Amino acid sequence: MQNKADVLIVGGGVIGSSIAYNLLNDGFTGRIIVFEKDSVYEFASTPRSAGGFRQLYTTDVNVQLSRYSLSIYKEFAEKMAIDGEKVEIDFKQRGYLFLATEEMMPRFSKHLAMQHKNGVSSQLLEKHGLLDIIPELTLDDLAGGLYCSESGYLDPYSVMQGYIKASKFLGAEYVYDEVESLLTENDRIKGVKLANGTEYYAPIVINCAGAWASLLSEQANLPLPVIPIPRQIFQFDVGQSLQKYLPLTMDPTGVYFRHEGEKFIAGYAEDVVRKIDFSWRRSDFEENVWPILAHRVKNFEQVKITGGWAGLYDFNTKDHNAIIGEYPTMKGYFVAFGFSGHGMQQAPAVGKGLSELIRKGKYETLDLTPLRVERFAENELVIEDAIY
Ligand SMILES: Cc1cc2nc3c(=O)[nH]c(=O)nc-3n(C[C@H](O)[C@H](O)[C@H](O)COP(=O)(O)OP(=O)(O)OC[C@H]3O[C@@H](n4cnc5c(N)ncnc54)[C@H](O)[C@@H]3O)c2cc1C
Repeated sequence: MQNKADVLIVGGGVIGSSIAYNLLNDGFTGRIIVFEKDSVYEFASTPRSAGGFRQLYTTDVNVQLSRYSLSIYKEFAEKMAIDGEKVEIDFKQRGYLFLATEEMMPRFSKHLAMQHKNGVSSQLLEKHGLLDIIPELTLDDLAGGLYCSESGYLDPYSVMQGYIKASKFLGAEYVYDEVESLLTENDRIKGVKLANGTEYYAPIVINCAGAWASLLSEQANLPLPVIPIPRQIFQFDVGQSLQKYLPLTMDPTGVYFRHEGEKFIAGYAEDVVRKIDFSWRRSDFEENVWPILAHRVKNFEQVKITGGWAGLYDFNTKDHNAIIGEYPTMKGYFVAFGFSGHGMQQAPAVGKGLSELIRKGKYETLDLTPLRVERFAENELVIEDAIY
């Protein structure tokens, strides 16, 4: 009995823990075990994320995922409280801003219409309107920008811990061990085998192992087009502070920056290289980020780099979006990975969606079928025009 459960979840990061929480919070009464190989989450992607949340997507499914998730994050501190202790997530609605060149503006105005249709309060700003948001901005090569004041950034580690604590409180069991393989029998999932040899059995296994998820799936002959790729974040300080706190700002080059406390962080659209590597390089900042920052905001001409880190994207090589749902040829095997650079902000909605799919066999709150596993074979990719 000890090794039998109703649902096994591989990976106790923000996605796995949100699914465990939502299932139990929605009334699921079965036994849920979450397996996590990294008990301090040193290498998990969630704590290494930039923490940005945005509404500025260009597909209905991503806009809806982010709208629902925003509604949860707004009340996260109170709703996830246990015994009156609030879960502070440093939720900052300081906006999200895509800066645009002349050439990008027509695309952005098309996006605006679809975002408004989905209830997003995005605005197309003309060049000089950008100065109301960032007074120090250099405008010479810009024509305007797409802005959403409701978006911003938060502390991903606290969100993840909020979900973990609430899941445990509701009865989820966390086992801090590595899942070595998936156990299958013909076209049915049976359970998982841990690196220490112990086997656990359940009719449902959900793979939320982030950047390691596709490897586990592939070993069981259940491949998905997802690879681990490293992404760096650089932390820096400036001599003269800015007049206003920054939105999460995306330069047309793919360099992004925001405040982190009274300092700043930045990252860029690095080449896609399949590897697991957690090193960060000052030289990459100097060559690829700093020249863009120095041109864009005059206060960034004099920066002092104070640190950095690297984390992994679970990068979907086909359309850069999450893959969510049951694997068509393996009954009971569910996946939720491939989030690329936007899983943290989608975690609340993904948890809700999988809770419904598993308890009721269908989506009710949000239709996540566009993100199904079958979309690759059916050539129904979900193509975003605004993902870096
Ligand atoms: C530098 C960087 C910046 C980012 N910025 C943003 C952003 O601004 N906004 C945003 O929304 N997203 C961002 N992301 C993406 C976001 O971090 C991820 O999409 C999200 O954290 C994925 O959550 P997860 O739970 O799937 O993965 P993880 O947090 O990695 O959790 C997966 C867990 O599975 C465990 N695991 C793996 N294999 C096994 C196994 N075999 N057995 C047991 N446990 C296992 C791992 O230890 C890990 O803890 C960023 C990511 C990076 C790297």
